[in-house]
This record gives sequence, structure tokens and C-alpha cells, in this order.
Amino acid sequence: MAIAVICLSLIALLDPLITSRPARADMRRQVRADLHRVHRVSKVLVRIRKLAEGLRTEERALKAAIDWSQSSVRGVESDSMVRLWMRMASLRYRMWVVRRAAARLRKVRHELEDRIHFLRIALTHLFRVCPVDEPRSYVDDFGVWVRRDEKGLPTKDKKKWHHHQGIDIFSVPGTPVRAPFPGWARVATNPVGGLAVKVFGAQGFVYNAHLLTYGHLGHVEEGTIIGYIGNTGDARDTSAHDHFEWHPFNGPAVDAYPYLNEACGPRGLDR
Ligand SMILES: [Zn+2]
Repeated sequence: MAIAVICLSLIALLDPLITSRPARADMRRQVRADLHRVHRVSKVLVRIRKLAEGLRTEERALKAAIDWSQSSVRGVESDSMVRLWMRMASLRYRMWVVRRAAARLRKVRHELEDRIHFLRIALTHLFRVCPVDEPRSYVDDFGVWVRRDEKGLPTKDKKKWHHHQGIDIFSVPGTPVRAPFPGWARVATNPVGGLAVKVFGAQGFVYNAHLLTYGHLGHVEEGTIIGYIGNTGDARDTSAHDHFEWHPFNGPAVDAYPYLNEACGPRGLDR
């Protein structure tokens, strides 16, 4: 019964983990809702811990009973012995289910806390200026399949495809690319990204690729021009754009779309 309750709450709690593309008010609402969910998950986890403790006590008692029977029966299997082992098997299964539920809930809580964290950063204006001047436009193409190999050449071999790690901000060649926050800009040029610049700030770094030329490097303020829109690297056969990646706390890239919208207007249009 307790396990059924856990499974039902798992489904209810996993359901809201669908990323939304919120505006500021929505983001605040989302943070509140997520905090509430974290609270609920924590409560369920406390119940699971109690349940697991109960199961462990039961396991110890059963083990003692088995040991006792084994020593008195001297290895000969009696009916009562078989019953004890059956009970042990079902107990172990229940323990496994409970452990798995706890692990999944901890993961959910972790993801919710992550999202709260990033939303809070976004609410404090993560990008203080839009990284690309007007005219510009982009869509949320983070995570779409890139049908190119590690050298940036188009390929039909699905094993070589990868998920797009940034947002492509399209503009006119030569349009200024700016540091979205104060920090340190340095060259990150490579064959795939072409001329590229990373800007390291207090919350992580951004990566701008396919630049036509560099701008100011080293110490930068928000809005300092660090380069100009181009199509170098594997973008040579596409139109000019800034491949823009956001790496919170210098970790893996995450979808920068909501943060960009905060700084550039929806899809980079009119602000
Ligand atoms: Zn790109």
C-alpha cells in the first residue's frame, strides 16, 4: 500500500518537470511552485526513509529467524524454512522498490533545485546586455540535432551527430558581438567554431563562435564589443551568426533561450 502511494506521488511529482519558456512573472511563479514541489518531495522522502527503516528492522528479525532455524534444522530444508526464505525474497524486493523510489525522488529534488537556482539567476538579469546588436533574431535551437561530424563537416552518419549546445543568433556580417556581463574575454578559436571568444563572468562563461574578427579582449565590462558577427569555422556554408553558449559555473552548456529573451526581447526582436 505504502509503495503504491509512493508510485502515485512519483508520477505526480515528475509530471511538472517540463521546461517552460517563461517571462519574468512566469519565472517568479515557477520558482514559487518549484519551492513548493521541493517541499513536497522532501516530505515524501522522510516517509520513505521511515518505511525503509521499518523494512530493515523486519529484515534483521527475519534473518535472525532464518539463522535460528538453520542451526536447529542443521541444513535440512523444512517447510517453515521455505516460508522464511519466501518472506525474505518478498521483503528484499520491497526494499529494492523503496530504494529506487527514493533515488528517483532525490533526482527530481535535485533537478528542481537546479531550476530554482537558474531561474533566480535569470531573475537577477544574468545577461545585462544582449550579446548581439540589432538586427538579430534567433529561435530556441538548443539541443537540436547537428548533422555534422567532429570536424564540422556535414555527415549522414547518425553516430557522429551531436546535440546543438548553443543558440544561433543570426545577424548581418560585421554586427558587434558584446560581453553580456563584466568579466574576462579570451580567444577560444577552434576548427569547428572558427574565430571564437569566451567571456568568463562571476556566474560562468559564454562562448561566441563563427566571428568575423575579434573585438576587445581581456578585461571587459557589460556591453564591451568582443567581436563581430561572421561565419567562420563550420558556419562557412551558412548565413552569418553568433553561436552563443551559456555555461553556468563553467559546467556543461544549458539552454540560454530564457536568459537571452530577458536581454534581447523575445527571439531577439524589438526591445
Ligand atoms: Zn550553433
